[in-house]
Amino acid sequence: MKASSFLKTVLYVAVLYAATSHAAGPLTAAEPAAATQQIIPAGSQPSITAPAEHFTGHVRIDPVWPANADINASGGLVTFEPGARSDWHLHPKGQYFVVVSGVGLTQEWGKPVREIHPGDVVWCPPGVKHWHGAAPHTAMTHLAVTGTVDGKNVEWMEKVTDEQYNAR
Ligand code: MN
Repeated sequence: MKASSFLKTVLYVAVLYAATSHAAGPLTAAEPAAATQQIIPAGSQPSITAPAEHFTGHVRIDPVWPANADINASGGLVTFEPGARSDWHLHPKGQYFVVVSGVGLTQEWGKPVREIHPGDVVWCPPGVKHWHGAAPHTAMTHLAVTGTVDGKNVEWMEKVTDEQYNAR
């Protein structure tokens, strides 16, 4: 490219940029701010120890994303140490979870305890009483996606007894 041609190209791009900027115009109060992509940086959401009030054994929750107005379901990685499990509970808008590592157990009220493995996806329909946790000698991590209604995503019930947990 000759020098004069290069300069013409630079000028053209500069003019085009100015024209485009002008056409877009400044934001006014009447225009909503443009939505913008966000990255939640790794390490910015501290791990939480799940409350003993609603869990048996040691359970760690790593928040992944919060529910928002467009996707009204939160995401969280939950890690159960061997033998650890949630209390019986239900979700008013349901819950998906996918086993990421280890071996887990889950049970719906009135049905047998089932063993779950990495890659297994479980759907808990709204209002269905259940629990989930690790196998007796193996930890389990799952990614849970839980629907929210009126800021609520779970209704807690009684503890899972050792007898219930070991009934396999
Ligand atoms: Mn659940």
